[in-house]
Amino acid sequence: MVKKPFIVGNWKMNLTLSEGVEFAKSLKSKLNRKNETICGICPPFVFLRDICSVLESSGICIAAQNIHSDKNGAYTGEVSAPMIKEIGCTHVLIGHSERRHIFGETDSFINAKIKAALSVNLKPILCVGEKLNEREEGRTEYVIKNQLKEDLKGISADQTKELVIAYEPVWAIGTGRTALPEQANEVHLFIRDFLTNEYSRDIASSMCIQYGGSVKPENARELMAQPAIDGLLVGGASIKLESFLKIIEAASGN
Ligand code: PEP
Repeated sequence: MVKKPFIVGNWKMNLTLSEGVEFAKSLKSKLNRKNETICGICPPFVFLRDICSVLESSGICIAAQNIHSDKNGAYTGEVSAPMIKEIGCTHVLIGHSERRHIFGETDSFINAKIKAALSVNLKPILCVGEKLNEREEGRTEYVIKNQLKEDLKGISADQTKELVIAYEPVWAIGTGRTALPEQANEVHLFIRDFLTNEYSRDIASSMCIQYGGSVKPENARELMAQPAIDGLLVGGASIKLESFLKIIEAASGN
């Protein structure tokens, strides 16, 4: 099966509502319908409804940057999976390193969020990745394996069809320091082996594993040329339309 590269832009807490809507309109008009990639954006919560209506039927995926694991309740400031689904989102980022390390999210919370997303047919993009000291101490595989084991607890083989995994080394996020393409590929292979052992070879090879961490127009092609990299999760370079389009173009091999 040929997988189309899946390129997603994570805007984090950037842009204004009008800038975001303009971005979405231009992205829709500039993306070649025959594009060889599938692309998506993750705007801040308060832009989602407007952007979902701009991008309706465009084929562009819209992801929330986070959800709570419960459907409703006394969680001031939180947003649930059914709320995000109702306004038209297709995907949700779960376990981004900024959520893990700035907001202290644990693997069991992340696991509950994945289940909450799947229960309303939202596709989770699960982010995993090691910190700099963990890489330097030779613990990258140990850390990734633990994250995957805990985060995917109770997720069935059938549910993996809806799941995307993003390998994002924490030391490469927002630092300008990208993993070498071969370094990233090695971890992607490790993730695929994990999925083969946990599920099956067919499932592992059909799942999309994105790389994220200081992706730019200049390195996108080389990263996507790695055999185990199926897509890109882009932060800083996704909030300027021109650079995001260049990354999409590079990923499509044009
Ligand atoms: C991210 O936020 O997921 C990310 C990869 O950020 P950046 O591209 O800025 O490193």
